[in-house]
Amino acid sequence: MKSVFLSLLKKLTPNVIFPFYHAVTDHPAQHYKNLFDARSIDCFSQDLDTFKNFGDPIGLKQLLTMTEENYFPGRFFMISFDDGLSEVYDFAVPEMEKKEVKATLFINSDFVSNADLFYRYKASLILETPVSDPIKIYSFFDENDKNTSIRELLLNIKYHEKKILDQIAEAINLDFHQYLQTSKVYMTGKQIMELHQMGYDIGGHSVDHPLFHDIDPEEQLLQARQSLDFVETLTGTDIRAFAFPFSDWGVKDEFFKKCDADLTFGTAKIKQDPIKNHFQRLSFEENGKSGSQILNREFSAYLVKRLIGKHRTKRR
Ligand SMILES: [Zn+2]
Repeated sequence: MKSVFLSLLKKLTPNVIFPFYHAVTDHPAQHYKNLFDARSIDCFSQDLDTFKNFGDPIGLKQLLTMTEENYFPGRFFMISFDDGLSEVYDFAVPEMEKKEVKATLFINSDFVSNADLFYRYKASLILETPVSDPIKIYSFFDENDKNTSIRELLLNIKYHEKKILDQIAEAINLDFHQYLQTSKVYMTGKQIMELHQMGYDIGGHSVDHPLFHDIDPEEQLLQARQSLDFVETLTGTDIRAFAFPFSDWGVKDEFFKKCDADLTFGTAKIKQDPIKNHFQRLSFEENGKSGSQILNREFSAYLVKRLIGKHRTKRR
């Protein structure tokens, strides 16, 4: 009975899973502490065993070939890391090397080698900075925002409002420039090239990480293409792969036709997509949950969605 159930489960669930992360570390850094749960090294190592139990690791080339041929001869997984953080080089890669797994790294062209800092990381850093008088921060917001917590206000700042973060930092004597000079936030171009030579795939993750739903279609294309061109120039890769910053929510079909990418990736967990070369990824950054717990939960959720016909992304 159990084997019947398992073979049915195999038939009904996708052949390829796309786990993704930002950072693997036992000491989460201040710039992302308030945004996501970095995976501990032990947890990540166990996740790798879970994925290897599920199927074989693949990279962009194999995924592209299988997609073009519409033939997936088995079960596979493709791990990716977003934002190009230095913890990938320092902690995730050594674990992956031990287990003979490679991954795809999606980088923001403006941030490589600590050239600049993602606006949400700035918000996290402000939250980690002791402030004697909260008025200093509230004064940058509307009068009606006084009842909202500083945390909520800072974490809700949108891409177009990001200048406020620089102004607040100045008011509380937080120097982002200095932070970038003294902290290893992002991988350097040299490290990325080294990983590419070791067999890791590199893809684009936009120029400076806007939510695509918040910017107009032309800006979306510019953000995607510029980061893809950057990756191509840096690594000489012949596959253009793009992972949406935050999410692909609200992005129109037209974008996919014009973005000049061979493969694109979203973050809508386990879901099928009407666009053949667009894949949804599942985050494993969840404290207190093992990789197999997350995977089983999401497979169950997928099966329920399948029953009610909601396992596909809808787009216009
Ligand atoms: Zn990102």
